[in-house]
Amino acid sequence: MKVFVTGGAGYIGSTVVAELIAAGDSVVVFDNLYQGHRGAVHPEAIFIQGDLADRGAIDAALAEHRPDGIMHFASYTLVGESVTHPFLYLGDNVRNALNLLESAVQYDVRRFILSSTANLFDDPEEMPIKATERIVPGSPYGESKYLIERLLHWLDKIYGLRYAALRYFNACGSHSPDLGEDHDPETHLIPLVLQVALGQRPHITVFGDDYPTPDGTCVRDYIHVVDLAQAHILALRALENGVSRKYNLGNGQGFSVKEVIEVARQVTGHPIPTVIGERRPGDPAILIADSTAIQQELGWKPRYPSLQTIIETAWAWHQRHPHGYEKG
Ligand code: UDP
Repeated sequence: MKVFVTGGAGYIGSTVVAELIAAGDSVVVFDNLYQGHRGAVHPEAIFIQGDLADRGAIDAALAEHRPDGIMHFASYTLVGESVTHPFLYLGDNVRNALNLLESAVQYDVRRFILSSTANLFDDPEEMPIKATERIVPGSPYGESKYLIERLLHWLDKIYGLRYAALRYFNACGSHSPDLGEDHDPETHLIPLVLQVALGQRPHITVFGDDYPTPDGTCVRDYIHVVDLAQAHILALRALENGVSRKYNLGNGQGFSVKEVIEVARQVTGHPIPTVIGERRPGDPAILIADSTAIQQELGWKPRYPSLQTIIETAWAWHQRHPHGYEKG
């Protein structure tokens, strides 16, 4: 298949691109390099530096390359930023997706994979969280993804645009020592912990230890980025003759912040000092995915469910590229 990947220079997008190419697909990456890195894009992918705010640029790319499917990763992705800058999310994220979708319909691309989020489930009635759980977005970020899911719902009904919305829990780990996570600023737990192990930070601040969890720190479902990538590829193939779907993607097991730090100590051999800080606004105590639907319907199964493996792969990347892509 020929796949058009927006945000294909970002952490998850670039991993999916590498896995698509390994599977024999051809890939066109469309990325404005706001957060992405040119060096993360697989050399066999066609790269277009473009912005989804520019409808003409999307039209030109789709007209030239005529992809069989689109995977849409490019967006603002930070819960906290979405509260301080809501229009980047409720505005830009949604407008950019709308540009892409209008262009997809115009150029007759009928398969679409949306990178969605666990932030749709701010008040779950059941844990682990099924894809059928009621939607309560936890922030303008979650709301922006929900709005895009709703756009897809209608475009499916009206134009037959088949889609899969994949709601990820905590993406982590590295594809390989040369393809990993490089955000600026970095806000995620595992890369921050590994920056402490590299001597780049004096300690990790634990955001609250008074949650109603076994050790008082938040519990999350950490899923290896290559497992996520495989889910995207399976979902895209399944759309060929199938119906649109929504899946939650995680390992189905939760680990606390303290457990993550302890495993990182074992993997790195560094003491990783901690400081207990305030709760981070908007953090629910526990988020664990129920991924049974994608396992049963598409045969997806995580290959790297162990937290130790996840952190080992992330550590291999951080050791080889302690300052990320551009700086080494
Ligand atoms: N966290 C923390 N210290 C940090 C960064 C994150 O204690 O410096 C916690 C955060 O409160 C959450 C978990 O680690 O419970 C995972 O956070 P992350 O930002 O990696 O992912 P999120 O759960 O927000 O998607």
